[in-house]
Amino acid sequence: MTDKFRIDSHKLIYHPKRVSEWLEARDNPELAKKVYPIYVEISPVGFCNHRCTFCALDFMEYKNRRLNPAILAEKLSEMAELGVKSVMFAGEGEPTLYKELPEMVEHCSEIGIDTSLTTNMVPFSKQNSEIFVKNCKWIKVSINGGNARNYAEIHRTGERDFDRVVDNMKRCAAIRREKNYKCTLGAQLLLVSDNYGSVLELAALSKKIGLDYLVIKPYSQHFSSHTMKYKDIDYSKYVFLQDELEKFNSSDFKVVFRINTMNKLIERAERYKKCNSVPFFWAYIMSDGGVYGCSAFLEDDRFNYGNIHEKAFKQIWEGMKRQDNIRYIQNELCIDDCRINCRMDEINRYLWELMNPTGHVNFI
Ligand code: SF4
Repeated sequence: MTDKFRIDSHKLIYHPKRVSEWLEARDNPELAKKVYPIYVEISPVGFCNHRCTFCALDFMEYKNRRLNPAILAEKLSEMAELGVKSVMFAGEGEPTLYKELPEMVEHCSEIGIDTSLTTNMVPFSKQNSEIFVKNCKWIKVSINGGNARNYAEIHRTGERDFDRVVDNMKRCAAIRREKNYKCTLGAQLLLVSDNYGSVLELAALSKKIGLDYLVIKPYSQHFSSHTMKYKDIDYSKYVFLQDELEKFNSSDFKVVFRINTMNKLIERAERYKKCNSVPFFWAYIMSDGGVYGCSAFLEDDRFNYGNIHEKAFKQIWEGMKRQDNIRYIQNELCIDDCRINCRMDEINRYLWELMNPTGHVNFI
């Protein structure tokens, strides 16, 4: 199976209990208040050491701000008790620039929250690599060029960073091997017109290093981004890469070419009429502490339910601002204004089918 982690699909099928709680809560505001997210993305810092040409969050301007570590640890413990099962540290800045991140992932292990990192892997050191590989379920490196020159062009950084990332990936793979840790190690390239020529090099490199997978993901325009460089990219020109990349697949290395997601961009297939995933199954904590229902609407006050620096997570999640947002999404949000292939797209397709069954569903 090429995509055993369902990267080009979704994993809500593994959470029937939470889905049934949501179904029961749909017309009951008191119950709806208590449906907590399964997955939360956290941006511990606003700043980043790179300026990728495609960065969707460039409009947030890489602010010099960070979450208070004592408050974050306290809120993570509270979130675990309330039903949050996983956290990805990523966001509008580079998460590993948060110097308390190693202790935060250790804390998550202690309280029973699964953690992961999406990172450019430049700020990895010997010490933090060990802690991250030991504690994270997966680490995904954002590496958007297959050689130093192309990487430096896309990440808008020096070529030396490419070598540093390669060394860090090798170190993580070695730590996992030596200590027999279970962390899945992957890489991701966001495919654009400026890097398609080095994709095969990256696949060869990722496999040689001993990563588990390489994801090739399409770009999608965020409506607030300053960059418009790849707005009209035509993926039909690049699907030929799928056959070439398949040749790298083996029992312990897979290339996940996100053809399903690309086809949705190429065909502009009809989608659901309402978003049912927000504000229920996921949440986003911004580097200023704001809790948002959707990462495509950061800095939009309608999706901001409160700040972890000021209130308990329970108070925020069960508060009036989230309840207003539930009503807004059900009655006013126009899906055409939403980002195509947003993070919840596959989940929304699943929930839409669940809510709009055909007459044949009992013939299982
Ligand atoms: S961008 Fe996606 S997840 Fe966010 S509100 Fe729109 S449909 Fe829902």
